[in-house]
Amino acid sequence: MWIKGNAYYLGEVSNLCINFDRDIKDIRKSCKPDIEFKQDELIVPASIDIHVHVRGAQLSYKETVATATSEAVYGGVGTIFDMPNTLPPVNTKQRVIERLREFDLYSRTDFGIYSGVTNEFTEIDQLPIAGYKIFPEDLEKEETKAILENSKKLKILHPEIPLALTVDRRLRTKWMEMASLYLVKGRVHITHITSLDNLRLAKSLGFSTDITPHHMLVEGERDCLSKVNPPIRDYKTRLELLLIGLHETDALASDHAPHTKKEKSMHYELCPPGIAAVSFTTPFLYSLVFKGLLDINKAVKLLAENPAKIVGIKSGFIKEGFPANFTVIKREPWRYSTKFSKVTETPLDLYPLEAKITHVIVEGKLAYDGKDVYPIKGVNIIGKGS
Ligand SMILES: [Zn+2]
Repeated sequence: MWIKGNAYYLGEVSNLCINFDRDIKDIRKSCKPDIEFKQDELIVPASIDIHVHVRGAQLSYKETVATATSEAVYGGVGTIFDMPNTLPPVNTKQRVIERLREFDLYSRTDFGIYSGVTNEFTEIDQLPIAGYKIFPEDLEKEETKAILENSKKLKILHPEIPLALTVDRRLRTKWMEMASLYLVKGRVHITHITSLDNLRLAKSLGFSTDITPHHMLVEGERDCLSKVNPPIRDYKTRLELLLIGLHETDALASDHAPHTKKEKSMHYELCPPGIAAVSFTTPFLYSLVFKGLLDINKAVKLLAENPAKIVGIKSGFIKEGFPANFTVIKREPWRYSTKFSKVTETPLDLYPLEAKITHVIVEGKLAYDGKDVYPIKGVNIIGKGS
């Protein structure tokens, strides 16, 4: 199949033809295209979200692999990486295999999965997983030390010390995030950093980093809907993260964490933390590009190129031999809302955006046409070409 349009290629936007099956085969100036995109549409590498809680299995009442990945393509994301704190948790060889099978059957995006820390790690390390998620409570476990020392795969850290899990939320401050950075070493990625100083510290220690839109944009933790871990920080911290941190971080991630309306209606102290926003990150960042506030090179790096490098996969670029995963965007005012997720309420609802996703192609097939999501079959990107 040939597509033609204004595409981001080798650091600039130019009118190009791209030929692909599952992978990109050829890029040239002219062709007889099967699909020609309009002048106001922009073809970029499909986004890669390295922090998504897909739920599924026994938590399918919150979200399933099909609903989470449908929401992802609606938001311009072509590859997601799934967190292991499911029910049952993904931390044994058997459960890793079952989890991969669940994604093989239902994922509408390319995918990778993380295992939880585990004493079965020598066996799990042989499987096609993206790496290991380290939660705060894991920092005191022997098996975490063994993984940090012996596994070559990525370790992705939720940066808070275990104490953060037991204190009143008002005491769950930035220093608990900072302290956790000294407890890990090696090939570690620090996810959802909430402040510029901790971002700079993580980078100075040699770690890669990501930040989330909600830690920049949500106006404080006002209710259960905006309750998230680590907590939303004060106005100055959020503004610094947006104005400076966004230009210094390696990647943007959603930390999509769906819960039911009933769970989110529970008493504030009891309700589960988490915001569903896998579909927000890409239109948000390209809104900044269209408004002239962010360089397009930086947006593509934050959403596609750097996430691919962090996990170590051959994806995230429009280049021959890479997966044919594209997102097509145009400048158009749009007030954000979820569409295919089971979550219908987020603190980012009605957020004014300037970018709309018009098409998404995953593994060479049309996954989203601006209206509907199609049940195409994503693949385990770790097995594909890492
Ligand atoms: Zn998370």
